Amino acid sequence: MLTNRQLFLLNTAQTSHSPRLIEIERAEGVYLYGPNGEKYIDLVSGFAVSNIGHRHPKVLEAITHQLNKYLHVTVYGEFVQAPQVALATKLLSVLPDRFDTVYFTNSGAEATEGAMKIAKKFTRRREIFAAHKAYHGSTQGALSLMGNTEYHRAYAPLLPEIKFIHYNAPADLHQITTDTAAVILEAIQGEAGIRVPDADYMRSVRKRCDDVGALLIFDEIQTGFGRTGKLFAFEHYGIEPDIILLAKGMGGGMPIGAFVANRSVMDVIKDNPILGHITTFGGHPVSCAAALASLQVILDERLIGHVDRKAQLFRQYLQHPAIHEIRGKGLMLCLQLNTFAQVEQISNYCAAQGVIIDWFLHCETALRIAPPLTISEDEIRTACDVILDALSKLDG
Ligand code: PLP
Repeated sequence: MLTNRQLFLLNTAQTSHSPRLIEIERAEGVYLYGPNGEKYIDLVSGFAVSNIGHRHPKVLEAITHQLNKYLHVTVYGEFVQAPQVALATKLLSVLPDRFDTVYFTNSGAEATEGAMKIAKKFTRRREIFAAHKAYHGSTQGALSLMGNTEYHRAYAPLLPEIKFIHYNAPADLHQITTDTAAVILEAIQGEAGIRVPDADYMRSVRKRCDDVGALLIFDEIQTGFGRTGKLFAFEHYGIEPDIILLAKGMGGGMPIGAFVANRSVMDVIKDNPILGHITTFGGHPVSCAAALASLQVILDERLIGHVDRKAQLFRQYLQHPAIHEIRGKGLMLCLQLNTFAQVEQISNYCAAQGVIIDWFLHCETALRIAPPLTISEDEIRTACDVILDALSKLDG
């Protein structure tokens, strides 16, 4: 009989020639468990998803409650579904006043797609600026914004009138003009290897967009829901974008995303033609119930208040000559090494020793550290000891 690992390779699509192949049987809190007694501390959070840990009891309770009521009942935007209403209301209550409508999607990429559409229709312009080394999703519209043309080649032609600026480079901002519909930026670049922009830069982007009448879209898909030490990373900069993209950590482990804007912008999808953006499953009631519970946990358990201290512990413990730099904000961290071989060797060693870390799409010489915000100080110490042990065993 074939093992699950063999069936995985045989029957499910792979996205690379070297999947990690770590088999998971169950997950709880900051831990993942394998079928043969393996226990891993998850320092990746399923790629910035499990901000409140895996299977938080409040999320499970909310899911169970909703399971007993209804699952899918109709396409998004028609029936009044209490979990959507409650989640939208709560989300808007923690966002600045300009955000007064939420459109729920299934994923981050779909949030990107929706935001591009409303920005183009609202401004009646076509040009969109994204940043080099950006990642906003893999669907073809979102992929057009990917600031790494190696990923475009096989899928061209993608969307026209997409242009790129360098992230955190004020000198490029003059390229944004009255022809520009929108500028889309990650609030902190994730897949570029965690690049934190200067607050002054973000303020200049805001000003330039205001000056030329372009909308500013912040992708908070990776930075959202407390990861950087604020509920949303835009709060670090003292400015507000026009549209926010959410997903990943939003759902407490369930699939959901959203784009959030002012009603004046959002309403363009309502007419000429009607149904300008529709989705069957977007805002699934079970995902919305989970997302509301997750947001409530972040707030009630005051998880954000501990993020900086925990991040500081990682920075303090992870002192090693092979680490050139520790970049990041809050628990969105990156250890800059020299080569991919080192990254691979350390991740494999750590996995074998029960610690999950990973790397980045556009920066394969750095290690990703993005644990659940609920990680304890002891767990941080244990995980860092394993990483240091791995570093001490580096070849050469
Ligand atoms: N935007 C950012 C910043 C991301 O990190 C990701 C996923 O990694 C996405 C968008 C796409 O989200 P999804 O995978 O849910 O489509």
